[in-house]
Amino acid sequence: MVNKTGEYDDSNYIFNDKNERLEVVGDITLNIEYWDCECTNDYIHSNIESRCDKCEAMEEDRPNSRENEVREYFN
Ligand SMILES: [Zn+2]
Repeated sequence: MVNKTGEYDDSNYIFNDKNERLEVVGDITLNIEYWDCECTNDYIHSNIESRCDKCEAMEEDRPNSRENEVREYFN
């Protein structure tokens, strides 16, 4: 992803109120502590889990979760 000045920016970390690391990529805020598996529901996993038992997705192959979806999921 490219930021507003047209440069690559993959180290722009901020923290939310739970002290979880967030990464802002363009208009999207990702939560680095979570990742999405391939399930339709309940697809958000903590980094503590490296694999989804249902769809067998591996953390290393999957993107980080969006912060707004993480907040919704755990509220
Ligand atoms: Zn899954």
